[in-house]
Amino acid sequence: MRYETEQGEERIAALRSAIYVGVALYNAYNLTSIVLLRDIVWLSAGFRVLLVTPMSLALAWHIGRFPARLRELMVLGAIVCAYLIPVFLFWLTDEPLGAFTFGEFSLTLIFGNMLLPLRFRHAVVFTCLAFVMTSAAIFTKPDLDATLRFAFAVQLATACLFSLYANYRIERRRCVDYLSQLGARLAAEAAEAARKQFQDLSRTDALTGLPNRRFLSERMDEWFDDDRPAAVMMIDIDHFKLFNDVLGHPAGDDCLRSVGAVFAAMAAGTDMVCARFGGEEFTIAVRDIGDLGAARLARGLVQAIESLAIVHPGRSDGVGVVTVSVGVAFKLHGKTVSQAEVFAAADRALYEAKRRGRNRFVLDHGVEAHRVRSP
Ligand code: GH3
Ligand code: MG
Ligand code: MG
Repeated sequence: MRYETEQGEERIAALRSAIYVGVALYNAYNLTSIVLLRDIVWLSAGFRVLLVTPMSLALAWHIGRFPARLRELMVLGAIVCAYLIPVFLFWLTDEPLGAFTFGEFSLTLIFGNMLLPLRFRHAVVFTCLAFVMTSAAIFTKPDLDATLRFAFAVQLATACLFSLYANYRIERRRCVDYLSQLGARLAAEAAEAARKQFQDLSRTDALTGLPNRRFLSERMDEWFDDDRPAAVMMIDIDHFKLFNDVLGHPAGDDCLRSVGAVFAAMAAGTDMVCARFGGEEFTIAVRDIGDLGAARLARGLVQAIESLAIVHPGRSDGVGVVTVSVGVAFKLHGKTVSQAEVFAAADRALYEAKRRGRNRFVLDHGVEAHRVRSP
């Protein structure tokens, strides 16, 4: 079924051209009726020109409209019909030379089984029908020499077997070719999926599930290539070593995950980049944002972590919960500045926030600071 869907167009084009060639030669063969079927020449011409030809052309024109299964069945029906008419004429004619139209049966078998070619199961049906009907015609045709009957029967049987075997070989080759193509394509798709998965993993922090520093740096390379303004925020958990020392490393990991989840939620659905920079440091980068917007966002970050209320029993500054400090630096509109400079400025601002007592944010020019809660 997958084959029929994928190769449908190709099959339709092949069937169309085979039908056109078949119709042309079928009618050309009609010329023999003039000398071999003199008594029923008009009947022969009528069948071919008024029935088989328009029917075949209509099939060729509309063949693309039908589902694959029906399409193949219609082709089978048409070839059976095109075959039986000459058999009938062969049987009907009283002309002594009429038996010489026998050659057409082999040609039609070759056409159906090898040129179209019919799908194998349809070829079996066609060949069996052809064999039965032609044998019936051979053995019931009056006045046919007994030796000729025998010769025709042998010719018919060999033509049937020969063309059916050829059809089997053609069909087998088609299946083998398709399966090897399909195998190669599926392998390529699997390799691509694995590469993509690896790429995603190599850009994801295993502990928090956030994008990692590699992802951040790639995204920043793009951001620093244009002149849109942006703000970079370096976020560091306060007294985190103490947190680990008092509550243990697994609790520290849980804390990192909870803090990371807050940032991820804030960044969800925006074009904000939120990454774990390393250790207990995170980075959030935002585009098209000014001092005011950045200050509002930084304040929101600081408040959001404090309101998580993760108990930090070791702190001596009176703040009993986990907090963060944030340093913010800017890439201004139309101003060329390197990524390293902005990150260094954000780091300096972060250091300043720590120096001023933590649990606050500082903008890189130091003009604005915010303390969320007094110690
Ligand atoms: P400050 O307020 O000045 O930032 O002090 P701090 O203790 O947070 O800073 P410091 O740099 O002295 O300590 C950072 C700690 O973060 C040390 C390290 O054990 C901890 N850390 C870094 N990565 C991880 C991690 O993946 N899991 C855990 N549990 N701890 C981590
Ligand atoms: Mg740190
Ligand atoms: Mg810290």
